Amino acid sequence: MQPGAITPQGYLMMALIATGGTYIAVRLTRAIGARSVPPTSHESDEPKPIPMRSLFQLHQTARWAIRWLTYLVFVAVLIQKSRYATAGMPLKVAAITWVCLTLPLGLFILAFEIYLRCNSCGRRLLIKTVDQTAFPSPLRQQVSRTGMLQCMHCGQRYLVKTVQS
Ligand SMILES: [Zn+2]
Repeated sequence: MQPGAITPQGYLMMALIATGGTYIAVRLTRAIGARSVPPTSHESDEPKPIPMRSLFQLHQTARWAIRWLTYLVFVAVLIQKSRYATAGMPLKVAAITWVCLTLPLGLFILAFEIYLRCNSCGRRLLIKTVDQTAFPSPLRQQVSRTGMLQCMHCGQRYLVKTVQS
């Protein structure tokens, strides 16, 4: 094996570190959110256009891309383990593509989720900071089907797509 090559144990270790980090982040935000007071409901207000709509759509695409890139790595691992393996190429190409794309996309997703706030209650639209929100998280809402999402804190509705008339 060449020096610097990542072993399966190495990948597993990175996955474990990432999972541990995520777990700590979730516990921390929940500890902070436990003291927060629910905002006034804006559920019956007129739907507003989502702030920074094109960036929001880019965010949705980036999340979708990361999901499929991860599947791609799994497929490459399966190919690597099968008798169709050709000198380590599929896994190497998939892993390099995954790292090169996932890192910038992930940073963009994180930055955008921190930046995007609800116009009505001022809380972050896409980051769940309390254990129990009044409405489901926008990431669990059928945004692409309904063309609308709802603030999980105050219920303000946002139009995500341009309305076709
Ligand atoms: Zn809100």
